[in-house]
Amino acid sequence: MHSQPLTLLNNLDVDVAIIGAGPAGTIAASLLHQQGKRVVVLEKQHFPRFSIGESLLPCCMQFIEQAGMLEAVEQAGFQFKNGAAFRYQDKYTTFDFTDKFTPGPGTTFQVQRAQFDKVLADTAAKQGVTIHYGHTVNQVDLTAEPVLYVSDERNQAYQINAKFILDASGFGRVLPRLLDLEKPSNLPSRSAIFTHIEDNISDPAFDRNKILISVHPQHKDIWYWLIPFSNNRCSMGVVGEPHLLKYLEGTLAQQLLTIVNQEPGLKRLLANANIVQECATLKGYSANVSTLATDKFALLGNAGEFLDPVFSSGVTIAMQSATMAVDSLLKQLDGQLIDWQQDYAEPLMKGVNTFRTYVQAWYDGRFQDVIFYQQANPQIKQMICSILAGYAWDETNPFVAESERRLNTIIALCSTTVA
Ligand code: FAD
Repeated sequence: MHSQPLTLLNNLDVDVAIIGAGPAGTIAASLLHQQGKRVVVLEKQHFPRFSIGESLLPCCMQFIEQAGMLEAVEQAGFQFKNGAAFRYQDKYTTFDFTDKFTPGPGTTFQVQRAQFDKVLADTAAKQGVTIHYGHTVNQVDLTAEPVLYVSDERNQAYQINAKFILDASGFGRVLPRLLDLEKPSNLPSRSAIFTHIEDNISDPAFDRNKILISVHPQHKDIWYWLIPFSNNRCSMGVVGEPHLLKYLEGTLAQQLLTIVNQEPGLKRLLANANIVQECATLKGYSANVSTLATDKFALLGNAGEFLDPVFSSGVTIAMQSATMAVDSLLKQLDGQLIDWQQDYAEPLMKGVNTFRTYVQAWYDGRFQDVIFYQQANPQIKQMICSILAGYAWDETNPFVAESERRLNTIIALCSTTVA
């Protein structure tokens, strides 16, 4: 509750009001500003601020470049990333993202999001985008042209009249809450426990250029991430359904260490590691909505649907949605009639649903069998690699165009050969 009395500031008129200055919000703001649109970004926190989601996919580099932010990101000193490594018991396999089916960037970065999101936001601001930090969107009125009701930290309130709202509020999910758009996810509720460590890894075979996904030796639906940063630290976390993690005791740090030590590969690798950040937990983060967009608003990134962290697709989906929504919005602002379902929601969901197929098959174990299959056909591996690199909208890739059917064919092939 605010203790100070509410004071009213002057109203603001813009073309587009954007809620949230995470990757979805700043990419959208920059692209709109490039086209001469009057944009304002409202961000309730101050940057730098912690965010989860530290392993990027190469596909998102295209959006960063389009937004004129590539140089700033490349110069920020983040850890180079060229692929993903997976380990289950004695099996270890890697995907090199430069060896993929879809053209486009094959490398990216592993980033501390506090710093990364600030680089994007500061670059957008340098380009001329207005970002108001410490400003919270509390209410909207969509009966006529959109109106946003905003307050700052001194409890000063004002209204923004906008032609359109982009909701990039991430897990804040501002419009889904205010407009009653929330829908339960069709994925089971899972929990994550995570922290940053000073890793002190001495194993010369450890590849810092890749995220390492390890599978629990007894429970194939519990998995761990290890994301090396450029400062001898790593992000480390574990994901599982709550009933599989509920036997863990003690503080979050003790729970995390107990479960990490159950995976012998991680236990060995991290024998000298120290936790350097307070452990945190997130539960039931998968989310869905009944409507992604109308002629007055569009939901971007996590404000729309969030699937699962296993393939590090969150930031890529956030930026992809920003780019797609801006394309449609520019046409609408130019007076064209846009069918937001057909022009935005459906094309966006094609890629999201591709990820969904592979996420579901990861947890039921089928996709893990494909990943750890040792005699993979190189062309098929390239097609799967494209999806792991984020190119889930490339319908020339048969594993995108017919993801379920192709996946089932390859699963059958792996199991016949294994048997
Ligand atoms: P965010 O980055 O969350 O930004 C939203 C912003 O909106 C915030 O700054 C917030 O302060 C602001 N906001 C909220 N409410 C309001 C309001 N009322 N008014 C004004 N501002 C507001 N993704 C990856 O790509 N790689 C990974 O390795 C990865 N790992 C993950 C691990 C876990 C356990 C989880 C749960 C997710 C992971 N993700 C990962 C997903 C990733 O965190 C998100 O997809 C990504 O941050 C979404 O970006 P965004 O721009 O939509 O939202």
